[in-house]
Amino acid sequence: MKIEFYKHNIGNKEIKSTRKILKSIFLTTGRAVSDFERRFSEYLKCKFTVGLSSGTGALHLGLLAHNISEGDEVITTPLSFVATANSILMAGAKPVFVDVEAGTGNINADLIENSITNKTKAIMPVHLYGQMCDMQKINTIAKRHNLVIIEDAAHCIEGKRDGYRVGQLGDIACFSFYATKNITSGEGGAISTNNANIAEMIKMLRSHGISKEAIERYTKYYRHYDMEILGWKYNMDNIHASLLLSQLKNIEKLLKRREEIWNMYVEGFRGIEGIDMPETLEGVKHARHLFTIWVSPKKRDKMLWSLQKKGIGVAVNYRAIHLMKYYKEQFKYKRGMFPVTERIGDSTISLPLYPKLKNNGVKYVIKNIKDAISQEV
Ligand SMILES: *Cc1c(COP(=O)(O)O)cnc(C)c1O
Repeated sequence: MKIEFYKHNIGNKEIKSTRKILKSIFLTTGRAVSDFERRFSEYLKCKFTVGLSSGTGALHLGLLAHNISEGDEVITTPLSFVATANSILMAGAKPVFVDVEAGTGNINADLIENSITNKTKAIMPVHLYGQMCDMQKINTIAKRHNLVIIEDAAHCIEGKRDGYRVGQLGDIACFSFYATKNITSGEGGAISTNNANIAEMIKMLRSHGISKEAIERYTKYYRHYDMEILGWKYNMDNIHASLLLSQLKNIEKLLKRREEIWNMYVEGFRGIEGIDMPETLEGVKHARHLFTIWVSPKKRDKMLWSLQKKGIGVAVNYRAIHLMKYYKEQFKYKRGMFPVTERIGDSTISLPLYPKLKNNGVKYVIKNIKDAISQEV
């Protein structure tokens, strides 16, 4: 059997709507993008969405729009994709890591205040695997110290916790539509916010700081534009937006299937010695983005290979960022500084999870994991 780690959901409907864009005159940021932005805001119950070319770009512009730059510190988690911490470096600021909770892998809100200095400007929590961080606690801390909250919601479009959606207790939420995310356009990203000024600023920053985007410059007659601030080139185009618009309509249905698979895994691994899993907390609507198991670090790498030999696609989300070469060298990080993150980073195996995965595929994965775990180290 061959079980891919990930299969996307782009089907005939998406291809049809994208064909329409390709046959039209206007390929870049226009009507399809603004339609997507409106629908995405409706889905999230927030006021504004700005479509971008990547999640990394969303995090980067989120920081820039809040004037975070050289000399500033941003508190974040070392258990994420490197994009999270890298975006802080891209803005010129310093990422300050805070260790995670043992049960969820999310940033440990109780440890945040210890790391706040007079340089701290923002907190960048990551809703790991699709489960929201304790945003009520993080919001209270941010208010007390006058900090901005930039949520990395790349895993968590559909999530909710204690009645709050992503973006509702933070200043902005950043999303990715990278190839393996719950909805995807290959590459893509967005920010959502309730703050009109921030949304306007990000719109400018996504296209070179130019006051009029292409659609306004070229509709009917050419018009002069001005450049008011230095921006980047991070705008979403109509082609990508049309792929996303169509998937967004089905997002809850897709989540339902992800949840079925998730529950099969949880049942399959329950009570098996040597296999641990992150917990889903009370009051959480989980976006079920990544399903991971935690095994003994001594067995982890061997299991990665033996599973792949059985035709099962696996990944590791994630190994600790502070132990990556660049971070170790630049910031003198060492093993032992964030022990919970390190333990999770050394024991994680991510398993296939996507709506197209069939029940017999899930069973095949479960059986092979059980076989592998029972083998000697
Ligand atoms: C995917 C991802 C990103 C980056 O998104 P891109 O669209 O690939 O730039 C950032 N943070 C997390 C947690 C992610 O999983």
